[in-house]
Amino acid sequence: MQKYVIAIDGPAASGKSTTARQLAKALEYVYIDTGAMYRACGLDALNKGIRLDDLPALQQMLAQISINIIYRPEGNRIILNGEDVSQRIREADITRLSSEIAIIGIVRTRMVELQREMGSQGGVIMDGRDIGTVVFPHADFKFYMVADVKERALRRWKEYQAKGENTSLEAIRQELIWRDKNDSSRAISPLKKADDAYEINTTNMSIPQQVDYLLKIIEGANAH
Ligand code: C5P
Repeated sequence: MQKYVIAIDGPAASGKSTTARQLAKALEYVYIDTGAMYRACGLDALNKGIRLDDLPALQQMLAQISINIIYRPEGNRIILNGEDVSQRIREADITRLSSEIAIIGIVRTRMVELQREMGSQGGVIMDGRDIGTVVFPHADFKFYMVADVKERALRRWKEYQAKGENTSLEAIRQELIWRDKNDSSRAISPLKKADDAYEINTTNMSIPQQVDYLLKIIEGANAH
């Protein structure tokens, strides 16, 4: 089977990353979580005490930044400047900071450059907000996943509970609403569906159903 580039976009907790990871396993592709890259940028700025309006300092940080995504079927490891930050970047302060740093043009230019390099050989599934619109506008397959915010908040809440973190469902819902708005209203590469993307509403779909749905489309196209 040909080594495709598969783009999956959509708001937070719409099912992208779990589906993308399982799809990568089924197809023996590499999965790249681009959200983790913006999270790593936010953490780098925080660690270095760089304010988000200090563009020269950010430019210097981006020139030196090293982000490695080590693909693991059970969950990627994210290495920032040689340090494993996989857990740290999932914390609430970095979640917000990632969305704030993602509106900055020089940050996006650098991340898109890295993402294109990572996907240049094909055989890759990349998820994010602008993969089908900006990073790989000619991706072989584009999917746009959505789900009701109540359901998305519940999914996140369950993930936090499983990790032993106690955050209220309402706080998670508010944070998702804030991020949806920030991500879709920014001037550069806002979150939006590419015209030629398949839209999937996952509100009432299980993960296996989501994976199956995507697989059928990919395998169906391959059969022609
Ligand atoms: O996907 P995740 O929730 O980890 O993404 C964190 C943040 O990174 C998002 O809220 C968004 O602002 C930003 N992001 C982006 N473009 C991408 C992926 C993520 O702007 N391709």
